[in-house]
Amino acid sequence: MTASTALTSFASLVDATRQHESDLLASVPTGLLIGGQWRDSSDGGTFDVHDPATGEVLATLASATSEDAVTALDAADAAQPFWAATAPRVRSEILRRAFELVTERADEFALLMTLEMGKPLAEARGEVTYGAEFLRWFAEEAVRDYGRYLTTPEGKNKILVQQKPVGPCLLITPWNFPLAMATRKVAPAVAAGCTMVLKPAKLTPLTAQYFAQTMLDAGLPAGVLNVVASSSASGISGPLMRDSRLRKVSFTGSTPVGKRLLADAAGNVLRTSMELGGNAPFIVFEDADVDKAVEGAMAAKMRNMGEACTAANRFLVHEAVAAEFTRKFAAAMGSLSVGRGTAPTTQVGPLIDAGARADVHALVTAAVDAGATALTGGTPADGPGYFYPPTVLANVPKGAAILRQEIFGPVAPVTTFSTEEEAIRQANSTEYGLAAYLYGRDFNRLLRVAEQIEFGMVGFNAGVISNAAAPFGGVKQSGLGREGGSEGIAEYTTTQYIGIADPYAQ
Ligand code: NAD
Repeated sequence: MTASTALTSFASLVDATRQHESDLLASVPTGLLIGGQWRDSSDGGTFDVHDPATGEVLATLASATSEDAVTALDAADAAQPFWAATAPRVRSEILRRAFELVTERADEFALLMTLEMGKPLAEARGEVTYGAEFLRWFAEEAVRDYGRYLTTPEGKNKILVQQKPVGPCLLITPWNFPLAMATRKVAPAVAAGCTMVLKPAKLTPLTAQYFAQTMLDAGLPAGVLNVVASSSASGISGPLMRDSRLRKVSFTGSTPVGKRLLADAAGNVLRTSMELGGNAPFIVFEDADVDKAVEGAMAAKMRNMGEACTAANRFLVHEAVAAEFTRKFAAAMGSLSVGRGTAPTTQVGPLIDAGARADVHALVTAAVDAGATALTGGTPADGPGYFYPPTVLANVPKGAAILRQEIFGPVAPVTTFSTEEEAIRQANSTEYGLAAYLYGRDFNRLLRVAEQIEFGMVGFNAGVISNAAAPFGGVKQSGLGREGGSEGIAEYTTTQYIGIADPYAQ
């Protein structure tokens, strides 16, 4: 092959890839989903969705108004009685079919997530598997919503306890896991018999739009799931949360917005599930297998470019292994290849936007100014896209802001400790309490430490702990409630107790 024919075939490959991307984008519904129909917003308003690797506009979506949000709640409210009365087996089979369809469409979902969110394709495929699993898990849970029947302690009367759907729900999702954060809420709501209005994040709504169409294709009846993407989040949540027909809000996002929504929820005493921010400690004890700890650290830090609520945010390493761990960790971080997520060689994609990159860099700069050393990374790249290099900071001063705040980027601050008590104290010195990671061979110690640290989820020698079958959630300012596991469906049911007078006395 000559140089010019090689160039021509490369150019046609690029054209074919671009064509495939634009065909996929053209197949994503751009409207609001209300009562089973995709429609324009009532004022004709729209907003653009961008590719964070290039800054280019990928699509333009209808932007729901407050009026549209209320129309979506009208549809959810109208569908609620029949949906609650639909047989659990029917709800289960729709979820099972949705699992199969999402799995069949895995390449399309993965590419959409990579385009709108930036994560590398291999990671996006991992999210499709994880996100689809909530559909399968809750298909199985839908038919196992048990009540109980028992005799009162005095021995005469009877107690009957049953679970009922909460009613119409508002589901608000963040931009970082566009599919999994939607399925983690929609699947248990469908299983429990709730109808819903979903408001995806405006930065990454395309996956949710494609998922909503997939739910319709799986046979979900009109009005059960309504989707109102919007450029004004509070313009959607405000009127809905003031409407007494809404019975629950389930939110995944930042702690400050979660607090605001909790205050709003007080007005109508709404049920709430809050999956908020994190500040995960990653603790390496002196008996840890250091190579395994480095491998786990890479997963716990770099999943989603560090843009995960479960991301390891503080590395607390015993002083006996700190030098070896930090050297190997910095080498592994420094060897990662950064680029557009669609390229097969990319391991680290861009951050979500310019503001996110500026926030990450400000934390790094402040830490370095206070005495930390950047062993790798620390300087953002020029050019289009919001790339930030994988960064390891050593000698981070104990009070640094980077240890207190959620970094949400590929930056790993390392500090040391000398005793188990000190590690526990450092781990707990945060207002967050979502995930924590412990590395060591002494299992009794890991159990002892897990009992003393205030976190909703703890990994033992594991850098990734999210699983549809496990109860995901935090304590302290990381939130309220659990998603996934058998706890996940309970968030969408309410308990009704029926007291029955002594049947023998009738
Ligand atoms: P965010 O709080 O800015 O936004 C989350 C969602 O809330 C989006 O849909 C957004 O449009 C909406 N929103 C924003 N302001 C609102 C308002 N005033 N009223 C109603 N809705 C509003 O968070 P983000 O930047 O999209 O996501 C990152 C955050 O989410 C991080 O803090 C991360 O830790 C957290 N998160 C938590 C979990 C978890 O399960 N605990 C999972 C993923 C992300």
